[in-house]
Amino acid sequence: MFKRVLIANRGEIAIRIIRACREMGIETVSIYSVPDQHQLHVQMADQSICVGPAQAAYSYLNVASILSAAVLTNCDAIHPGYGFLSENPDFVRAVEACGITFIGPSADVIEQMGDKSAAKKCMESNGVPTVPGSDGPVATLEEAIKVCREIGFPVLIKASSGGGGRGMRRVDKEEEVRSAFDSARSEAKACFADDRVYIEKLILNPRHIEFQILADHLGNVVHLGERDCSIQRKNQKMLEESPSLFLDDDLREKMGTVAIRAAKACGYKNAGTVEFVVDKEKNFYFIEMNTRIQVEHPVTEMVTGIDLIKEQLRIASDLPLSVKQDDICMRGWAMECRINAEIPQKDFTPSSGEILFLHEPGGMNIRFDSLLYTGGEVSPFYDSMIGKIIVLGNNRLEAIRKLRCALEETIIEGVQTNSAFQYTILHDPDFIRGQFDTGFMEKKKDALLSLMVLEE
Ligand code: ADP
Repeated sequence: MFKRVLIANRGEIAIRIIRACREMGIETVSIYSVPDQHQLHVQMADQSICVGPAQAAYSYLNVASILSAAVLTNCDAIHPGYGFLSENPDFVRAVEACGITFIGPSADVIEQMGDKSAAKKCMESNGVPTVPGSDGPVATLEEAIKVCREIGFPVLIKASSGGGGRGMRRVDKEEEVRSAFDSARSEAKACFADDRVYIEKLILNPRHIEFQILADHLGNVVHLGERDCSIQRKNQKMLEESPSLFLDDDLREKMGTVAIRAAKACGYKNAGTVEFVVDKEKNFYFIEMNTRIQVEHPVTEMVTGIDLIKEQLRIASDLPLSVKQDDICMRGWAMECRINAEIPQKDFTPSSGEILFLHEPGGMNIRFDSLLYTGGEVSPFYDSMIGKIIVLGNNRLEAIRKLRCALEETIIEGVQTNSAFQYTILHDPDFIRGQFDTGFMEKKKDALLSLMVLEE
């Protein structure tokens, strides 16, 4: 096992990884940008090194600086968390060139899965169902129109290197293809320095259901059930749960088997997520594979009792998985809501500042993963997600009740958050009945906003 791990990230995920390392007797080195000097991840690690100024491009994305920090502190491995450099194959290659282990899959797999249309092709040729669409990237408007005619409207134009819902456009009729094609391409170029786009059929009102997998270097691949992440705003997840009310045991088994096949098809090692959209008739289609730990991983941990970060560390140090498929059983119902520092009434614009007071939720099977502490700073420079509340109930209704109570207990003063907004979702009759799809937020947002109890 590793002796010392550098965590190339910040915020709640850096803290999450530090905790797992500590429990395993592994020393930790954190990195930080100049304004992050007093962040919790810096205080909790055994050592910390400043890697640059506020702008992520010069600090948390600064490969040379991060590698110098790792080499100087004698780290034998680097955990990338999510975001930042976690899905950057060049970073992985540079890490390995320094003789350091990257805690994640190989650079080649990250590269292949990061090209979403190439990933789809790989899946198709291995019998994994994918959304009907173009055969690879579409280079010209004429070709785009031709593909749209073939598959029929509505369609989605998606960035090949996409992520976070960016570079994605819905098109309902032929007249809209030109402007959507151009704007998807320019957004893709701006966000990912890659303007390639592909087209797929828009599945109407689907559920977003993803499977967590783990794969070790001995050829063992298991799945840990699903997460339903259909509650999204602008294609970004807000509230997640496991299991999903939408799956019965048969479909779970079927999708889990396909997820394992998907992982094997690309020679995947470490923890990963196979994402599907599922239509009303319960047909499921692969949309992408995420080659890193995900924000919503704790819901899987809560229902399976398996620590995914520890498994990542085991896999990366060539140990076998600590569990076999038959040992994995899902118990109860887990639900997570993301706490973002943002102002829902102002179109969810980010909020930042000093935390003047904090009261964390507590109680049986209630978990609060966050970067917050009284006197700490919510930075304007990085992602607005400041924490996650995750609960485990015996059943779905108990999980909803627990999560409501946890939100009632949570007091965060100094920045505005979306917690009252999340609270209204947990009272929505359709949400409670489990009748929702990825269109939930668009349909309900205004009504939920008007129900929100305004925070002082
Ligand atoms: P990103 O990598 O940018 O997050 P994804 O491919 O994972 O993009 O898609 C993000 C979300 O967009 C999905 O969770 C789903 O809600 C929606 N989506 C993606 N592809 C389709 C599709 N073909 N039909 C309907 N919805 C889709």
